Amino acid sequence: MTTIVSLHAHPDDEALLTGGWLSQRARAGDRVVVAFATDGAAGLATRSVSGPRLGDLRRAEAERAAGRLGVARVVWLGYADSGMRTAPTRVPHRFVDVPAEEAARRVAAILDEERATVLTGYDDNGGYGHPDHVQVHRVARLAQSLAARRPALLEATIDRTCLVRLLRWIGPAARLLPGITVPGSDIFSDPADVTATVDVRDALPAKLGALAAHASQATGGIRTIAILRRLPPPLARRVLGTEWFREVP
Ligand SMILES: [Zn+2]
Repeated sequence: MTTIVSLHAHPDDEALLTGGWLSQRARAGDRVVVAFATDGAAGLATRSVSGPRLGDLRRAEAERAAGRLGVARVVWLGYADSGMRTAPTRVPHRFVDVPAEEAARRVAAILDEERATVLTGYDDNGGYGHPDHVQVHRVARLAQSLAARRPALLEATIDRTCLVRLLRWIGPAARLLPGITVPGSDIFSDPADVTATVDVRDALPAKLGALAAHASQATGGIRTIAILRRLPPPLARRVLGTEWFREVP
């Protein structure tokens, strides 16, 4: 049996970036473990919930989403959400302030305990540059080297050209997406750097179910999940029905 440990920065990243593939692997009989660095307390607040209570809510949503993806175990590393570069949080124990090696030792301990053969992290841009995502990139690379049995490392990413098409479709609303601007070379990956393009269309119901579980991030205003769930079917199949990885040699 293959065991996959999928490291993510915040609840909903697992569904957005890797939900289809994790669901496929779980269905095929692999053991899937998702580890979250933070509870996403700096995420999009709902009308009635913000701050630490938002963290509690997002943890509950993530557990529900994990159930829909067939995840066997959810691990919370318990660091604080660092917030976006333009809106950093001012709380103790932020993930971005923790030495990468310290967090990596904890991830390596999970890899050892699970006898994991595959670890997932993020590309070197940390996707769209969120400090916690860049930190996941660093921590996963270090954890791979610290594990007793070195796992394969797949870095979740998005083919940048696909994102351009999405942003073109949503038009002026793209400006309002948190942290995402029209892609330059500093977000996600050039298609040439993608080593695995995974067709996850057969896992779309599970992936959409997991996205729906992250309800606090999907209601009201211009929100990434809300936009993704409203895509016209051909674009949804392209954007949500494909997942991209870079295998670290
Ligand atoms: Zn995130």
